[in-house]
Amino acid sequence: MEKACKNCRLIIAQGDVCPLCGSTALTTKWNGHVVILNAEKSEIAKRLGIKVNGTYALNINE
Ligand SMILES: [Zn+2]
Repeated sequence: MEKACKNCRLIIAQGDVCPLCGSTALTTKWNGHVVILNAEKSEIAKRLGIKVNGTYALNINE
């Protein structure tokens, strides 16, 4: 199962460090995901506080 960063929600395919924020607080306990293709214009990105394009977890259960 892929991990998601608890700090910024980025979904991480491999490794133990978030490439976006550098956090090592990763979890497999997440569900739902959203692909942000245009972070500057996306309403979802604004709501989630996302500033960089990528795939993010919607819910982190931990
Ligand atoms: Zn992160």
